[in-house]
Amino acid sequence: MAIFDNYAPVVIQALQTRGLSGDCPMCKKNQWVVHEVPVSVPVYEISGQVKFPGTSMPMAAMICRNCGFSSFHSLGALGLINQNQAAQGQQSPQGTDVAPAGEKA
Ligand SMILES: [Zn+2]
Repeated sequence: MAIFDNYAPVVIQALQTRGLSGDCPMCKKNQWVVHEVPVSVPVYEISGQVKFPGTSMPMAAMICRNCGFSSFHSLGALGLINQNQAAQGQQSPQGTDVAPAGEKA
């Protein structure tokens, strides 16, 4: 999908500029890959329910190719959320913006 062109290299650069490096904490190999598209993690509504579709957090998934251990990194915290796309696709039906605090377009 064209919207995610160049996604993995951008995520890798964002993580490296924040000092992430090193081996998998489980198997001690260094065989990380970034999943080719973001993952969407469902979050609880204020009501205590998880709705589908509902509010979610966009995350980058780092996966160890040796053992499958995965880590998830907030695209908002990494500054990788396009504000225009976030306004269309990352809001709950009530309009709650789940992206971490940032400037509004
Ligand atoms: Zn591993």
